Amino acid sequence: MKKLFKFLFFVLLISASFQALSERVEVTGARLWVAPDNTRVVFDLTQPVDYHLFTLRNPDRVVIDLKNSGWGDKTGRQLETRGYVRGLRSANKEQALRLVLDADREVKPKSFLLRPSGQYGHRLVVDLYEKSPGPVKATKTVKPDNQGYRDVVVAIDAGHGGEDPGAVGRKGTQEKHITLQVARKLEAEINRQPGMRAVMVRDGDYYLKLRERIKKAREFRADMFVSLHADAFRSPNVRGSSVYILSERGASSEAAKWLAKNENMSDELMGGVTLDDKDDVLASVLLDLSQAATIEASADIAQSTLKELKTVGRVHKRHVERAGFAVLKSPDIPSILIELAFISNPTEEQNLKSRSHQQKMVKAIARGLKRYFERRPPDNTLFAVKTHTIKRGDTLSALAQKYRTTSRRLMALNDLESDSLKVGQVIRIPPL
Ligand SMILES: [Zn+2]
Repeated sequence: MKKLFKFLFFVLLISASFQALSERVEVTGARLWVAPDNTRVVFDLTQPVDYHLFTLRNPDRVVIDLKNSGWGDKTGRQLETRGYVRGLRSANKEQALRLVLDADREVKPKSFLLRPSGQYGHRLVVDLYEKSPGPVKATKTVKPDNQGYRDVVVAIDAGHGGEDPGAVGRKGTQEKHITLQVARKLEAEINRQPGMRAVMVRDGDYYLKLRERIKKAREFRADMFVSLHADAFRSPNVRGSSVYILSERGASSEAAKWLAKNENMSDELMGGVTLDDKDDVLASVLLDLSQAATIEASADIAQSTLKELKTVGRVHKRHVERAGFAVLKSPDIPSILIELAFISNPTEEQNLKSRSHQQKMVKAIARGLKRYFERRPPDNTLFAVKTHTIKRGDTLSALAQKYRTTSRRLMALNDLESDSLKVGQVIRIPPL
């Protein structure tokens, strides 16, 4: 009996010490992402950790005490010095690991744990925000004067970013890099169009919550919101571009449903709040009411863009698809989501990386957007200006009289050097 007790005692002791060993958390990596208004530091962990975080001043730093933790054996213990971070120091304190982030200014940290997703395991995320942010820098693009007409503004949203790579192709191509490359090309292409201006919702390798993306587009007073993606599907054979608009009532196809689920998960995995809250029923009713007109406009843009994309390559579905993408839930801005191609298809992965193919897609998208604005010109923009095709015998002064304007105004609006006109030339006529 005594022997049995002794044995049981040892079993307990051994399992308890194993327990203690297995509970020790290893920090296996550290990296950072720089966004315009924050710096995100991410620590890879072998399992979730108990931690305590506080800030100190002179010099400014953030201290994170990880309970029952230590560095992994082969882990680099350095962090880049970018954004607000000036360095990473660490020390073992009894069972705990103390991490010290040196900051270049007074920061307000926000931290949370992330569950494993994709290539990453458990993580501790520390977002550093500036405690007293300075005035927001104007990001307005300087474009030539439009004779008093405002530019139509297109908000370009490069999907994913930072800690969220999006879909990953067989050769390792990450969706977040493709979307940003294409977004920058699209920005340049749009800015080349008279009367159009592009603004970038994400302009670097960092993550933005879906709601923040919509908020930014609104701050830019965008006339249109274009979200760029290049997702993966279960089957590598699935390919082609698709254009989506929001649907409150179910997705139009199995693939649309599947993609929407994946895109919306992005926020959940990144520790953001989900779109649904307790006022969901009321919110969706309001959304429905205010969105009826916007969805119609979105459908028009999507149609126009899809038509142009068909000239560049294969399209996945011949019609515009509808799905419940959270990023498209902007009640006042017509919004579309373009799946440039499937990164899971080896040929398309190659195409997505090709600069010349990117340029072709960008030209098609810009054409689609332009056609839309030509059909539905917003007030006070160059698109709202009527045009006249010059016929034999037309003179500038006769046209000025006909359209109740002046020759000078016609010359300025059309960048004319002289008053000579060519048959077939299209000139803009200012509204009355
Ligand atoms: Zn995506």
